[in-house]
Amino acid sequence: MRNSRSKLLKLYESLLEAYGRQNWWPVDEEYHRRHGSDPREEIVVGAILTQNTSWKNVERALENLKGEGLLSFRGITSAPLQKLEELLRPSGYYRQKARRLKEVAQTLSPVSRLEKISREELMRIKGIGQETADAILLYACGRLSFVIDAYTKRVVERVFGLKKDAYEELKRWFEENLPKDLELYREFHALLDEHAKRYCKKRDPECAGCPVAQMCLKLE
Ligand code: SF4
Repeated sequence: MRNSRSKLLKLYESLLEAYGRQNWWPVDEEYHRRHGSDPREEIVVGAILTQNTSWKNVERALENLKGEGLLSFRGITSAPLQKLEELLRPSGYYRQKARRLKEVAQTLSPVSRLEKISREELMRIKGIGQETADAILLYACGRLSFVIDAYTKRVVERVFGLKKDAYEELKRWFEENLPKDLELYREFHALLDEHAKRYCKKRDPECAGCPVAQMCLKLE
């Protein structure tokens, strides 16, 4: 247990040193200032759109929404469904995502609802599963809820030789072994994703030159 704790922290520090602060979740503060919306709304929208697609595609859909002045709960709720579908097209599954976003925006309005909402309540909303709920809690609500995704699973499986397929079990493992520090939770999740994309790729990880190779069990 103590070993996991110190090794996990060391992994965090090494990734931070290698890649620097990621400052997730990225939001366009200036846009929200101009439109009188709340940046937390953008986080919720991004968390839904990123399901089953890359962030690059999400960014294109977010830009489309911004171009029409619709990147807010009110904008999404009031936009005609067909128009919303068109704007979300770059993010894939755009028909499903448009319907879901409308439902989520309506249910979570006004955005101040996020301040008291529980994880269970979030997961009762159609289209919000464990990972999306945790991303919303961590980045929009400022709660200590570690986010697990395929990248995180892959990196810890290799570095720690840890095989935890169950989402809740892996989330608990992180939360039991990390200090209760919001910035650390936010940065660590982003850094694990960055590392998985740059070096710890699904096929043919680039272990030569990997900044955490010296602590990786895969290489032993
Ligand atoms: S050494 Fe290879 S398997 Fe281990 S973390 Fe680095 S890239 Fe991934």
